[in-house]
Amino acid sequence: MRLITHNMLQCHAKNCNVNNFPLRFENAEVELIEADFNPEFLINMLPKLEWNALATTAVQLGIANVPAQIPDNAAENEEFLKALHGLILETHVQQGQMVCNNCQHVYKITNGIPNMLLGEHEI
Ligand SMILES: [Zn+2]
Repeated sequence: MRLITHNMLQCHAKNCNVNNFPLRFENAEVELIEADFNPEFLINMLPKLEWNALATTAVQLGIANVPAQIPDNAAENEEFLKALHGLILETHVQQGQMVCNNCQHVYKITNGIPNMLLGEHEI
């Protein structure tokens, strides 16, 4: 699962409506998988990303050098765009789990696929 996907996931258990994003990684196994660099795609994604969540998640995964804020010149800043590319498109969490900070629901990740299904009592 790429971090761009993680950035769009929130806990969807019943009555879990606050503090349910971002899901916290635990025991995450990270793998870097090369992808084509597409600056226009990244620039279009910037307004859609929850940057604070992304920066927090990067720290959890031990990824350094993620700026606390999107730089003002992001669209022309190739160094930033390359780092962003590596972070959201090439960084995959292959194994581990995501935990909701509110209800503590655990979403397991197996072979890069998060299991977002809930038990019947959680729907
Ligand atoms: Zn939750």
